[in-house]
Amino acid sequence: MKRIIFFIALTMTLFGGNAFAADKLKVVTTISDLASLTQEVGGDRVDAVSIARGYQDPHFVEPKPSFLLLLRSADLLEAVGLELEIGWLPPLLEQSRNDKIRQGARGYLDVSQGVEILDRPTGAVTRAMGDVHPLGNPHYWLDPANAVRIAIQIENRLAELRPADSQYFAQRLNDFKLKINEANKRWMATLAPYRGAKIVTYHNSWPNFARHFGLDVAGYVEPKPGVPPSPSHTFELINQMKAQHIKVIAMEPYFDLKTPQSIAAQTGATVVVLYPSVGGAKSGSDNYFQLFDTNIANLVKALK
Ligand SMILES: [Zn+2]
Repeated sequence: MKRIIFFIALTMTLFGGNAFAADKLKVVTTISDLASLTQEVGGDRVDAVSIARGYQDPHFVEPKPSFLLLLRSADLLEAVGLELEIGWLPPLLEQSRNDKIRQGARGYLDVSQGVEILDRPTGAVTRAMGDVHPLGNPHYWLDPANAVRIAIQIENRLAELRPADSQYFAQRLNDFKLKINEANKRWMATLAPYRGAKIVTYHNSWPNFARHFGLDVAGYVEPKPGVPPSPSHTFELINQMKAQHIKVIAMEPYFDLKTPQSIAAQTGATVVVLYPSVGGAKSGSDNYFQLFDTNIANLVKALK
């Protein structure tokens, strides 16, 4: 009996789920949105895992030993670039000692290459600007048009790494494009009545989102990206919001509610939590499509 069980276990190891899983391309992404888009394109031929959780500030991720294990066995690493991950990715990458995913290797993909980047600096960049966006705004994934551009780059790289599956990836990319086009029509229609509406956001995470959907981000709770609220800036912001009748403050889930709530109390505005990444909300943000469904529904409630 024991021998039979042993034989069954051995057979399952060789031909069952494990053997199949070992055959999948192992993709590690810095943020969950890239993992979601990779899964859309890669289907069951890839296993995509994100380092940062959707509810974390992607500028500041605390390194963990488990991240090294992930990176050590990765075939492909996908990053946002534009220095979004500069505070935490380089040491992890160094310590992972995985030559396949080193910067410049085929297993390293910085998807900022082929997308629309906003707020590119024109003059000289200095740290005195107190900016965590020195090369342009890195939150560009919050635009469905950029999601397509990201998916195209992912498809190209997956096909390069796994030529035998290139047709499969191409087909899935096509399906994704059709699906997001349909979703985008729905999202645009939902937000159409609010075209031109002025809002304030906590961090400058939403320029691509706002542009795509015709919203106007008129101010920020942070005086500069990455710099916490200050009394003088908050005072100016309150005056501006009163003068321009701005009724919505959108904040990311990882910031302190205190300042937005106090601004709301003095201006009559509504604070709404918008999620910059997949998995940021406890429910209804399991993938890129759900993320937009949830954010747009919450935003509309606040704008009404
Ligand atoms: Zn940022």
